[in-house]
Order: sequence, then C-alpha cells, then structure tokens
Amino acid sequence: EGRVEFRDVHFSYDPNREILKGISFEVPAGKTVAIVGPSGAGKSTISRLLFRFYDVQSGKILIDGQDIGGVTQESLRSVIGMVPQDTVLFNDTIAYNIRYGRFDASAEDIRQAADLAQIGPFIEHLPDGYETMVGERGLKLSGGEKQRVAIARTILKAPPILMLDEATSALDSHTEQEIQAALDMVSRGRTTIVIAHRLSTVISADEIIVLKDGRIAERGRHAELLAKD
Ligand code: ADP
Ligand code: ADP
Repeated sequence: EGRVEFRDVHFSYDPNREILKGISFEVPAGKTVAIVGPSGAGKSTISRLLFRFYDVQSGKILIDGQDIGGVTQESLRSVIGMVPQDTVLFNDTIAYNIRYGRFDASAEDIRQAADLAQIGPFIEHLPDGYETMVGERGLKLSGGEKQRVAIARTILKAPPILMLDEATSALDSHTEQEIQAALDMVSRGRTTIVIAHRLSTVISADEIIVLKDGRIAERGRHAELLAKD
C-alpha cells in the first residue's frame, strides 16, 4: 500500500493568487515520482498539502483511495516520512534524534539505521550549539551530516510513503553523491515523492513532473523529457 493521488488540486495561500492550478498525478505504491521546476513553481506547496499544513481549495488528495481531508496531521505523519532539506535537531544525542518518532526502537535498531545512513560514529554526541550539564559541548555537524540524521530517522521509522526534499546546493559533490545513494536506498520499494532541483538527480524516477507556475508543463521519464528538448 501507499498509493498517492492528486486529483485536479487547486490551492492558493491568499484568494487573489492561485498557486496550484489544477494538479493531477498518481504515484503507484512503491514507485517514485519526481517534481522539478523553477523556484516558486509550487513544489514545496505540494509537500505541505500532503501533510495537511494547508487544505486544498478544490480537488482531492488521496492515499490508497482515501481522501486525506478526513485524516489528521498526526496520522499523516505516521505514514509519510519526510527527509527535509534542512534538518533541525533536538537538544539531545544524535541517537535520540534518530529514534524521534519511534521511541520503541531498540538500541540495536538505532545503531543499524545510523550505520546505513553513515552517521554511526556520531550517535552518542549532542548536536552543535548544545551543552550537557557537565559542560560537554555538542558536535558541529555539516549540512550533509544533519541530512544523514534525518535519513537514519526515516530508515528506522520505515514509513510506506516518503517525501524527499533534495538539497539545493550547500553540499559538496562527493557528499551529495553519498547522500543520494543513501536516499536511493531508503526509497527503494516505498512510494516516493522527490522534490528535485536538477533533472540529473532523478534519472531513475518512474515519472518526472515538470511544474511551472502552478501547472504541470511536462511529464515523462527522464529520457523522454530529454528527447523533447
Ligand atoms: P517552490 O517550492 O517550487 O519553490 P513554493 O511551493 O514554495 O515553490 O511556492 C510557490 C509560490 O507560493 C511562491 O510564489 C511563493 O512565494 C508562494 N508562497 C509560498 N508559501 C507561501 C505562504 N505561506 N503564503 C503566501 N505565499 C506563499
Ligand atoms: P520548507 O520550508 O523546507 O519548504 P515546508 O513548509 O515545505 O518546508 O514543509 C516541510 C517541513 O515540514 C519540513 O521541513 C519538515 O521540517 C516538516 N515536516 C513535516 N512532516 C514531517 C515529518 N513527518 N517528519 C519531520 N518533519 C516533518
């Protein structure tokens, strides 16, 4: 399970300006759809609607055929994992940050998730900016390392649906490749929506949707989109 469907979705933050102008797409269970397009096109808005931070003005969003209009934000968060671009860490160990959302996880499971995300050596440390009562300072984590913490959290939580917001720049290309490999690993077999900033990172997506000014301008597989240019 985990099929996601947007059906003629219209949305505006304020009444004078429509942001999504009739968006329809389907992500079959276990498949990956990438959403690309220029800044301001409405990509993040799609992710906010899926979590019901806002509700659609018309049209429908369905998960396994159920309209999410009747589903609480809390239960949406339990079926959809989010790997954001920018992860804010809590004032506790990296291990705690990884098990956030799955407090029943065993130490062994946490370690395994951390190792898969390649953040294993850091898990007993606090993040940067925090200090223990005995004055031990937190570790300064790079953007890539913070993203690995979010990836480890998602591996542990193993939600049927994944929402990935790919990093724009910030990461050097070596780190980016490693993160990309870790993201590919977590998304395998899960329904995945990737907000991507470059076509080159979503070569293997089952469908790529090019969003422009709130409409789907083009759609297809990577090779098909390249062939059109
Ligand atoms: P993208 O992720 O493709 O860069 P967004 O979905 O973030 O685009 O934004 C789409 C449009 O909606 C932009 O023009 C942006 O300025 C506008 N927008 C985003 N968030 C809000 C908000 N909270 N209130 C009003 N307008 C917003
Ligand atoms: P952005 O400012 O990056 O565009 P959005 O407004 O699109 O962010 O909303 C996505 C944000 O919601 C993520 O950055 C993330 O912090 C938060 N979020 C939503 N659902 C979850 C979740 N299940 N787990 C963790 N964070 C979540």
